[in-house]
Amino acid sequence: MKARRNPSWSRDELILALDLYMQNLTTPPRKTSREIQELSDCLNRLGIQIAGQYEKFRNSNGVYMKLMNFRRFDPAFQEAGKVGLQRGGKLEETIWNEFSSDPVRLRQVASAIRTVVINGSVPNYSPEEDEDTSEASEGRLLTRLHRSRERSRKLVDQRKSKTFKEKGKLTCEACGFDFETTYGERGKGFIECHHLKPVHELAEGSRTKLEDLALLCSNCHRMVHSQKPWLTVEKLKDLIR
Ligand SMILES: [Zn+2]
Ligand SMILES: [Zn+2]
Repeated sequence: MKARRNPSWSRDELILALDLYMQNLTTPPRKTSREIQELSDCLNRLGIQIAGQYEKFRNSNGVYMKLMNFRRFDPAFQEAGKVGLQRGGKLEETIWNEFSSDPVRLRQVASAIRTVVINGSVPNYSPEEDEDTSEASEGRLLTRLHRSRERSRKLVDQRKSKTFKEKGKLTCEACGFDFETTYGERGKGFIECHHLKPVHELAEGSRTKLEDLALLCSNCHRMVHSQKPWLTVEKLKDLIR
């Protein structure tokens, strides 16, 4: 029987690992510590939510090694004349560069991911995880949370009818596209909603308000999500200008 390789670490997992690393800069937790064990448990539960099946693939040894992998980017560690484990993936470096200089954001994002893992509050498969859509910098679970919030039928209907009552039409807030003007009867009432809140704020059980949703045409919405980091509607408008 061939030994199966563990899947490579996801963005979500590395964010959680870096968070633990950053909280214990001077004294990393030992391999047998409670912190490492808890992270291992959390990652295995995260794995269920991302892959839809249970596989216990992040044992405490692997988790500990991953923390040691981060050391090779840590200037404090290098100054002490030491080198961390040199092997490791490219994504580790990306996550280090994105998050290590902003520990507050790292804490917020990591705790949002943990909340979702604990609550199990996100659908575990999302058909729109296609290749043209980039997951958020904050990882796949929070991406799914964003997508499920902005697709909530009831909220979307309320949001659209609010604008329709006020303006008599539904136009894209970034480019002004009007489906009805272009497609006639078939385009009437059609537009997409995009959730404006930072994704790490979605996990705390906050309810989506109508003003959290922007109306965007399908092209503009696609462009927002097409690369990391996602664009704000303001930045998108700048691009169009
Ligand atoms: Zn548009
Ligand atoms: Zn969106």
